[in-house]
Amino acid sequence: MSATKLLKRICYGDGHAKEDGVTTEDIHHYTFGISSDPLLQFSAVFAALIHDVGHEGVPNGQLATELPHLAEIYESRSIAEQRSVDVALELLMLPKYKNLRACICGDEAGQERFRQLLIHCVLATDIFEKGLKEQRNERWEQAFHSQEATSEGPLSKEGMDRKATIVLEHIIQASDVSHTMQHWHIYIKWNERLFQEMYAAFKAGRAEKNPSEGWYKGELWFFDYYVIPLAKKLKECGIFGVSSDEYLTYAEQNRTEWEQRGEEICQAMLERCEMEAEKKAAKSKRIDSVPEEDEADENVYQDEQREGRSRSNSMNGSIRSANAIMEVEDNDESQHSYADH
Ligand SMILES: [Zn+2]
Repeated sequence: MSATKLLKRICYGDGHAKEDGVTTEDIHHYTFGISSDPLLQFSAVFAALIHDVGHEGVPNGQLATELPHLAEIYESRSIAEQRSVDVALELLMLPKYKNLRACICGDEAGQERFRQLLIHCVLATDIFEKGLKEQRNERWEQAFHSQEATSEGPLSKEGMDRKATIVLEHIIQASDVSHTMQHWHIYIKWNERLFQEMYAAFKAGRAEKNPSEGWYKGELWFFDYYVIPLAKKLKECGIFGVSSDEYLTYAEQNRTEWEQRGEEICQAMLERCEMEAEKKAAKSKRIDSVPEEDEADENVYQDEQREGRSRSNSMNGSIRSANAIMEVEDNDESQHSYADH
């Protein structure tokens, strides 16, 4: 929803089209070509939809320990994200979606471009992968503060593409954490969902630390070093109109309110989680009559599901080639292992 909202802002502007003398061509330039690129727009929305498909409820580091075969396939980088793309594309490639695919991207060249855009967008949601963040910041600097970017004349094709790509990444990133940039109640609701997910992982022995340790400060850090700078960038690129103001204002307000009430909220979240866990434990005691064999079967089934998914994966080649694309684009030594297959 957030991705659609931001894209709508770009494409319809703040009534730019209605102003006298503003042509479609003007809007095309003003939006770095995004307004006249439906495939790019669709890729962003589709990426927002599928970017966490198959998420295991634990961060990538833990995933690498639990599912080493996946870590191997994806070379221990952005494991969950690469897998989400795989799962989604595998589904989309089913014969029954042939017409849908034709509508989305038309010919083969369109399909290839769609896949590249999708991978680019989904990988942008891995904000903890070492190096990616710095590269993204550098690209932002280049796109918006380099000599060419700030000079008066019309942008080159490369300059436009660079801006479009980096803006696209930031739309996805903002959408991924858009709960932090909306009304307080929305922020608190989704903040608690994440807390519950991490608490469940902790209870299941899949995390070393109880999330309640450091959660309050962690949120403040996240606002200061991620959310607010991101909202400022949306504002800086100048194409989101009032939406970027709205995002930044909510982010700052939520930070202030969290600073005041966060500790007490953390305590309440923890209590609710503990209560839930106790209820669950009591319930599972009551239905202790489940025969052991069934449980074992269930586990085997789950393992098969996980492994089957990654092994039968017809799109791995695409992921690798997409990484190669990223590598060329980033032109960075540290990216090499991505494409070294
Ligand atoms: Zn997400």
